[in-house]
Amino acid sequence: MKTLAEYLELATQTHGHICAGQVLGVRLAMLGMRELGIDDPVAERKRLVTYVEIDRCVTDAVALVANCRLGKRALKFRDWGKVAATFVDLKTGRAVRIAAKESSKQAAREMFPELEKETGQQRAYAQLPDETLFEKQWVRVEVLPEDLPGFKGPRVACAQCGEGINFKREVIKDGRTLCRCCAGEKYYETVS
Ligand SMILES: [Zn+2]
Ligand SMILES: [Zn+2]
Repeated sequence: MKTLAEYLELATQTHGHICAGQVLGVRLAMLGMRELGIDDPVAERKRLVTYVEIDRCVTDAVALVANCRLGKRALKFRDWGKVAATFVDLKTGRAVRIAAKESSKQAAREMFPELEKETGQQRAYAQLPDETLFEKQWVRVEVLPEDLPGFKGPRVACAQCGEGINFKREVIKDGRTLCRCCAGEKYYETVS
C-alpha cells in the first residue's frame, strides 16, 4: 500500500482538490485494506468489490485507494447518505464495513480548536487514530453472480421500448419482460 501522503497527493489530482472528505476517505479505505490483508489493491484488483453508501468527496478517495471503479463493476453505490463503505474480499469471502464515527468531527475540532473548520478537519483526519475516526464491523455480503465484475450473460430486449438490458436487470410484469423504466421505476419524464 502507498503511504497516506502519497494517496492524498493522488486524491488531490483525481478529485480536483484536497478536502477533509478526501483525507477521511483515504484513511477509511486504507483501514479497510489493512483489515482484509490486501496490501496492493492495484495488483489484486480482481479480489475486491467495494460498496459505498454516499456520493460525496469521501467516495472518490475510497474508490481511489481501493482501486474500485463503477466502470469495472467493482464499485457499488447504495444511496444511504452515510459516510461508510464495505470492502468485500472475493478471494476469502470476508467483508468489512468501515463507518465514520459521528464523534469524529468533534474530535477534530478539539484537536485543532484554533484552526478554521475545514483546515482543522483535514489535519485532524490525517492524524487521529483509526479508533477515534471509525467504527469497524465484520459483515457478510452476498455478491450475486450477475453483480460480479466480468459477469457474462445474455442481453434481453425490453418488450415495450426495445432497449437492451444487461446483467439480469429486467423485470417480468404481467408476463412481459420489461426494463425497469417501462416497469414503472422512472427517474425521468420524456419531453418533446
Ligand atoms: Zn472534495
Ligand atoms: Zn423498456
